[in-house]
Amino acid sequence: MDKLADAERQVRNLGIDIQDQQKRHDRYCEDIKADYERKMRTKIDDYEREMDKVAKLQQEFEEKCGAEAEARLDNLSSENKELRSALERQKRDHEHEMRLLNIDLDRQSIRIRDFEDSLRRSEEEQRALQAHIDENLKTIDRLRKRAEDAEESLSKDKGHLGGQISLLSQKLDISSEKIQSLEELNKAVQLECERRLQEIELAAQKKIDEETKALRDKLIKEEERRHKLFEQVQELKGNIRVMCRIKPPADKSSDALIKFNTRASELDEDKIDGLTIPTEREDFRMPGKMIPGEPKEFSFERVFDDSCTNKDVFDEISQLVQSVMDGKKVCIFCYGQTGSGKTYTMSRKEDGIIPRTQEMIFGEVDRLKVLGWEYTVEGSYLEVYQDKLYDLLASRSAKPEPLMVDPISEELNIKGHSFTLLKEEKDLDEMVRIADNNRHTAATAMNDRSSRSHSILVLKIRGVKKNEDGEIIKTRKGTLNLIDLAGSESPDKARGEQIYKEGVEINSSLSYLRTVLSRLGQGKTEGVDFRSYTLTQLLRPSLGKGCRTLMFVMVSPLKENENETIRSLEFAKDVSDTTPPKHTSNVQIFS
Ligand code: ADP
Ligand code: MG
Repeated sequence: MDKLADAERQVRNLGIDIQDQQKRHDRYCEDIKADYERKMRTKIDDYEREMDKVAKLQQEFEEKCGAEAEARLDNLSSENKELRSALERQKRDHEHEMRLLNIDLDRQSIRIRDFEDSLRRSEEEQRALQAHIDENLKTIDRLRKRAEDAEESLSKDKGHLGGQISLLSQKLDISSEKIQSLEELNKAVQLECERRLQEIELAAQKKIDEETKALRDKLIKEEERRHKLFEQVQELKGNIRVMCRIKPPADKSSDALIKFNTRASELDEDKIDGLTIPTEREDFRMPGKMIPGEPKEFSFERVFDDSCTNKDVFDEISQLVQSVMDGKKVCIFCYGQTGSGKTYTMSRKEDGIIPRTQEMIFGEVDRLKVLGWEYTVEGSYLEVYQDKLYDLLASRSAKPEPLMVDPISEELNIKGHSFTLLKEEKDLDEMVRIADNNRHTAATAMNDRSSRSHSILVLKIRGVKKNEDGEIIKTRKGTLNLIDLAGSESPDKARGEQIYKEGVEINSSLSYLRTVLSRLGQGKTEGVDFRSYTLTQLLRPSLGKGCRTLMFVMVSPLKENENETIRSLEFAKDVSDTTPPKHTSNVQIFS
């Protein structure tokens, strides 16, 4: 539309311009024509005036003078000639000027024609534009008409929609009111629900609390019953128990193995509780000839043959660890010649007694917490070397000072030494790791101190149970001693004076241990002098009445170790034979 208006304006201006030019040109032509006519009239007037003068003079002459008049006539005729030629000249000039003017006029005419042509073209263009404009105007009209129609229908629709909108807004108002009332209702229902929920929760919580309390009480009673039963079972097993473990041979097909005959337990045929070793003796009728002798027979609470694993061992003894949680004092010894598997059984990282005990104790601490017990665990890792006591946790850089055990205290007390508080399993793990490192730092290939020293892990486990007022109503004080004894082999002079002397000393301390255990096994606590050796002095608080001892005897299956194996089994027999007979008549089983 803008473009169209522009074109219209341009055409209009162009028409006006052309008209102006036309007018100017007409005026110019008229001016030239008038000027020319004026000039011609002046010349003609001049000529006529001169001619009048000549006629007058001629007449004067004829009238007045003869000769003079003739002379004057000559003059006058020459003058007349001059004038005539001047007039001729002037006429020529005028004609020339007229020609020029005509040429100019022609030019102007051509220009006018040109103007007229361009005017025509402009007019044609204008017409075309006008036609275009007319067309556009028609289109505009059509569009305007359509717009008007549309507006009309829109206004009609508007009216219709307005009606609908007002209807809808009425409905909306009604709906809002409904929503508001529903919201209020909802709020009220919600409040009611919350109130009821609270009531239900309170009632449920009360019921849960009551049931929990009842269950807890039942659990506590059950735990106490288990405790009593457990105690009786442990009593039945005796306070000094002995088990044997036969190390598996590296090569089973070798002939150089002891031919153990094992005997299945009467109570559980999957378990072995006895073994026999065939012997030879010289035939007294034929000196030098060897004949089968009396077989050596051994019976223990249990024999672990070479098919048994560390797990089987722990399954058997875990109840002893459990009784420590119940406040018992327990010693578990591993006895045997060097290389028979003491450390493997006691400390193997993956499944030895120590790692499994760690796990079990802290699991029990958590379990018993639910029953109201709070436990603390403290530990020490000690070493008895050449009958002197050392702290295995102390730094090995300085020369270690021997420790002194309090000889009369009820509990184990070591002067100037404090137990380490073990808050969680990893603390005990770290303690064991440090002690193992220190134990191995002291060892060299030729001088393995660890096989000539006793190592003792002591765990003091204290449990307290409080009532609702926080007063202590029950306490349990258990101690677990896990002892990896020095190698029990006979002292060997070939290994040098020092090692021989140490071997003799070890043997005396082990044989004193046997004496102490056998006396305790016979129920004789009086007269036992624990102070004779550091090991027994250290273990005294855990070896008295009500304490429990388990002696593991490790034996080698190799023929070349037969003597040491028999010696170890004899040692174990001595300890186990002293265990008083087991009475079952006074056992009361709760149900
Ligand atoms: P000790 O502590 O009595 O001197 P170790 O426990 O160090 O003896 O055992 C000596 C070697 O025998 C170690 O290499 C150990 O891994 C291996 N050993 C001991 N007992 C067993 C067993 N039950 N099964 C497999 N290997 C064992
Ligand atoms: Mg060892």
